[in-house]
Amino acid sequence: MTRPIRVRFAPSPTGKLHIGGARTALFNWAFARRFGGKFLLRIEDTDPERSTKEYERAILEGLRWLGLDWDEGPDIGGPHAPYHQMQRLSLHKEYAADLLARGHAYRCFCTRERLEEMTKAQDAKKEKNAYDGRCRDLPLAEVERRAAAGEPYVLRFRVPAGQTRFKDHVRGDVVFDNKEVEDWVMVRSDGNPTYNFVVVCDDIDMEISHVFRGEEHLVNTPKQVLLYQAFGKPIPEFGHLPLMLGTDRKKLSKRTGDTALQDYADRGFPKAAIVNFLCLQGWALDGTTEVFGVEELVKHFDIKDVGKGGSIFDIEKFLWLGGEYIRRESLEELAQHCLPHVLARGAVTEADLRARWPWFLGIVTAERERIRTYGEFAERTAYLFAPDESVAYADDALAAAKKHLGRIETLRAYLDWLRPRLADGVDAAAVRDATKAWVAERGLKMPALFQPLRVALTGLAGGPDLFDAMGWIGAPSTLRRIEIALERLA
Ligand code: GLU
Repeated sequence: MTRPIRVRFAPSPTGKLHIGGARTALFNWAFARRFGGKFLLRIEDTDPERSTKEYERAILEGLRWLGLDWDEGPDIGGPHAPYHQMQRLSLHKEYAADLLARGHAYRCFCTRERLEEMTKAQDAKKEKNAYDGRCRDLPLAEVERRAAAGEPYVLRFRVPAGQTRFKDHVRGDVVFDNKEVEDWVMVRSDGNPTYNFVVVCDDIDMEISHVFRGEEHLVNTPKQVLLYQAFGKPIPEFGHLPLMLGTDRKKLSKRTGDTALQDYADRGFPKAAIVNFLCLQGWALDGTTEVFGVEELVKHFDIKDVGKGGSIFDIEKFLWLGGEYIRRESLEELAQHCLPHVLARGAVTEADLRARWPWFLGIVTAERERIRTYGEFAERTAYLFAPDESVAYADDALAAAKKHLGRIETLRAYLDWLRPRLADGVDAAAVRDATKAWVAERGLKMPALFQPLRVALTGLAGGPDLFDAMGWIGAPSTLRRIEIALERLA
């Protein structure tokens, strides 16, 4: 029997949208769009301490920013509303009562102390920690009596004997022995259901046909599959997407780098590069084409083609993609995209930049071959907006300047020579030629002047043509910055 395709992204609003979550959403969405199915968004907000509305809003915004849309969801409703898990608790209760009535679940009165002792004893015998089933077969009369007397209990799932298999499009079919699954807690003593339970209730109710999610959930799937069987409902097809690993092959973590989608947007990665990079995390278009758009993903994506090998989150490759997309933008587009990143540094106003737009476009033109993110543009051009007194000298730039600057007198002599030549402003081409002649006449090597001059004007070791930079900052600032460098380098 083939079911209508219905997939979902089910984030917990307990943090920003993780880059791995963004990939999960993207792949679910692409699968639905390719095969004419529906893509649902469900907010799993059952952890009241960690869930916030801000996170929820940010997640929805992040998904929209990526260009994803959904057919049912918390903001647009749909035939299976509500799409907030917390608003579905009465349904979860009904589902739990059903399992209890049919003997697939049972009340467990074991106290925390008792369970701790049990765990200790298991540890001592080097046994796997698992519930030992003490309450599994209590006589019904006793159960009723204790419950009626107000003794707290949890609901545990009664794992049947046997073996279970499920289809996983990424990892191949998975078979497990039910013995490996303990009688796990479905509903806590305070009445709140657990993730493994509610996710299945909601996926059944929302008629989810395929569950694609991160590999970290693979350990949960056996419990969930057993629930589908207990409910007598069709088991969805699964696809556990490979973990995104850093280039050190370790799981991506806050420690090793940015993990939130927003971090990359803030750094000014072009959106299309982010989407493209996410596509490459476990999937490939044809094995050779690396730069492709979301249309290609939608045309060709199939979960069967996702590889189970860890996807490597290679930041160098990500940056390279960023550069590729930047060079596909028109000059005007690129300038518009760089603008907010420049403004965010707070050294110039939008009105000022708009008033000098052709000037700004000239700078964008000079930088576009080099930059890989809009943030890099802002960083590399910060010297243009810095007060002359506080141009930041990068360590490598300072080192290069000191290494090449034989005598500070060279720079001083150059300043004296340059001053009258800038009386009418900077003619970049003319100053460039005259400067080269000046260096040659003195038998100097080019870096002996150019490195100190570069640090004086820009604070950077490399960058745009020095004389273009002179033109951008103008004659007074050029002279002033060299004067300041004479003091700072001496
Ligand atoms: N709320 C879960 C998470 O954010 C969803 C897991 C699932 O897709 O089943 O990880």
